[in-house]
Amino acid sequence: MRIFDPHIHMSSRTTDDYRAMRDAGVRALVEPAFWLGQPRTNVGSFLDYFDALLGWEPYRAAEHGITHHCALALNPKEANDPRCVPVLAELDRYLRKDSVVAVGEIGYDSMTPAEDEALAAQLQLAVDHELPALVHTPHRDKVAGVARTIDVVRESALPTDRVLLDHLNETTVAAAKDSGCWLGFSVYPDTKMDETRMVRLLREYGPEKVLVNSAADWGNSDPLKTRKVGEAMLADGFSDDEVDLVLWRNPVAFYALSGRLDLGERPERDDYAGNVLRRGAPADS
Ligand SMILES: [Zn+2]
Repeated sequence: MRIFDPHIHMSSRTTDDYRAMRDAGVRALVEPAFWLGQPRTNVGSFLDYFDALLGWEPYRAAEHGITHHCALALNPKEANDPRCVPVLAELDRYLRKDSVVAVGEIGYDSMTPAEDEALAAQLQLAVDHELPALVHTPHRDKVAGVARTIDVVRESALPTDRVLLDHLNETTVAAAKDSGCWLGFSVYPDTKMDETRMVRLLREYGPEKVLVNSAADWGNSDPLKTRKVGEAMLADGFSDDEVDLVLWRNPVAFYALSGRLDLGERPERDDYAGNVLRRGAPADS
C-alpha cells in the first residue's frame, strides 16, 4: 500500500513516527503551515517556521525515505492577531519556492472579519502564484462554516477544482461535493472522523476527489490513520485500486495542480545548513 498523507504537521512529530510511517507505506506527505499552540508574537517567528518547512523538515523526512512538500500561509487562528497579519506581505516571496505545492492551511476558525480578509487575500495569492489552496473548515459551527467558506471561494478568482476543503464530515460532505472542490477528511483517534465512519462515507459518496489525512500534530492524533483507513476499506470490500486512488493518486493529482510536485528520489545529504541528524559514529563502526 503506497500512501501520500496530504496534511500532517511533522515538525510536531518524532523520529519514531517517521519510521513507523515509512514502515506503514507512507512515501510522501504535505506539511501545511499552521498554528503552533504557543501564539506567535512577531512576523519573524513565521519566517523561521516557513524556512524549517522548506529546509530542515524535508531533510528529516528524506532520512526516512519520505518525500516532503509544504503549503504555506497565515493560519486562520492567527489571522486574528494584528502582530501576525503582516506576514501576508512576506508570503509572496515564499510562495515562489520549489517545494511549496499549495497555499494553506487557510480558512475559518471563529469566522471573524479578520479571518474573512486573510482568507480572501490568500485565495488571491493562490491565483497569483498558480497554486491550489488547502482550506481548513472550522471545528465548531461546521455546517455554517463550510457554507460560508464555499461562498468565499466562489467569490474569489480561484476555481473550486483547485481547492481542497479539509476536515469534512457527514454534515458537510454533500455541500462540499456539490461545490466542485476536492474533499479532505482528517481521521483522528477519539474525536471527529474515524476509519469506520470514513469507509461509510466512501461507500455513500464514492472515492473520486476524496483525500484522507491524519492531520497529526502536537495534539491527540495518529500519523498512521491513513494506513488504518486503507485497511478498513479493504476489509469492507473496496479494491486495492480504490485504496490506491484515495491514498495515493488523489493527493498526487491535487498537489500536481501546482506544477511543482516532485516525487523523485531526493539526493542523500550529510547535513542541512551544517546541522546533522546523526549523533556521532554508528555503534558498529
Ligand atoms: Zn492542520
